[in-house]
Amino acid sequence: MVGHARFVWNKALRLNLDRLAQGLPIVRYNDLCGLLRLWKQSEEYGFLAEANAQALQQKLRDLDRALTDAFDPAQRMKRLPRFKKRGEGDSFRLPQNVKVENSHVFLPKIGWVCFFKSRDIIGAIKQATVIREADGWYVSIQTEQEISEPELHAGTAIGVDRGVAVFAATSEGEIVEPLSAGARERRRLARLQSKLARQRKGSKNRAKTKAKIARLHQRIRRQREDFLHKLSTRWSKSHALIVLEDLRIGNMTRSAKGTVENPGSRVSQKAGLNRAILDQGWGEFARMLDYKLAECGGHLLLVPPQRSSQECSKCGHVAAENRPTRDLFRCVACGHTGHADVNAAKIVLRRRLWIMGNQLAS
Ligand SMILES: [Zn+2]
Repeated sequence: MVGHARFVWNKALRLNLDRLAQGLPIVRYNDLCGLLRLWKQSEEYGFLAEANAQALQQKLRDLDRALTDAFDPAQRMKRLPRFKKRGEGDSFRLPQNVKVENSHVFLPKIGWVCFFKSRDIIGAIKQATVIREADGWYVSIQTEQEISEPELHAGTAIGVDRGVAVFAATSEGEIVEPLSAGARERRRLARLQSKLARQRKGSKNRAKTKAKIARLHQRIRRQREDFLHKLSTRWSKSHALIVLEDLRIGNMTRSAKGTVENPGSRVSQKAGLNRAILDQGWGEFARMLDYKLAECGGHLLLVPPQRSSQECSKCGHVAAENRPTRDLFRCVACGHTGHADVNAAKIVLRRRLWIMGNQLAS
């Protein structure tokens, strides 16, 4: 199923990239489904009929969405979708007829499959996504249930700055240490990667090393998710309003500041990996805060990022000289001194007034 779904994604993507190269409009979801029917009837691609038809259609739906996002001016960070490789994010989604009984799940066209039920399934089952990870197969089940409107949150409002050397700082002065892969994982990853580079392509040992690297990445990802879940749960419970800079818009140069190293050095490799983990973490963190706050009756607010690192939270003076070092803020106008990221978080919190003022005005 994952193989067929990947094949359909790649074939439809190739078709659309070719059309784009010729200046033709892309083929949208409904027409792609029509093409899929033709492929299944053909001798060459008849094997596609073996897979669940809806799972293949869902892949086309995902591709349509990815292509739409790529050309959406409001989502500047999005790029054109990529071809899928075997073993990288293998998955398919079943939008209907999924059933669960005790520790068995019914997947259309596959049948009843035994699984380890990690938590109770509450509500009506809507769809299931089957994912291949480094250590086996996972099924994620989406349900629907009615919930009552949460009571208004009684907590405070905070601004949060995405720090340069730290993961985050709040307007209340909390500094969250950076999220980084453990030193042991980093050393192991570097060792495995240099081993992989020495191994002969297509050899069994190379495949083994690859599997080890994939499991290590999985481990690092899970550590990251655990960290983000704990922090976002704690903040969502204690604050009614959390204000973040909207990093999907505006420039990303500030986040690159302070990570200048010698390219190619060991330090650089380590910083690069941590940087990558941090980058993946921030968007995920905002998403978690958004839904967790909604569950608690609170709100997440995104404000435009603009020179919050140079503005004094006490007198409002903006100057590059206000930031003599990466961590220190010292206002040249009023003399206010403090942690640079905490000062920035206070500015972020104040910017909620711009947004609220605009809403009142409109
Ligand atoms: Zn000042």
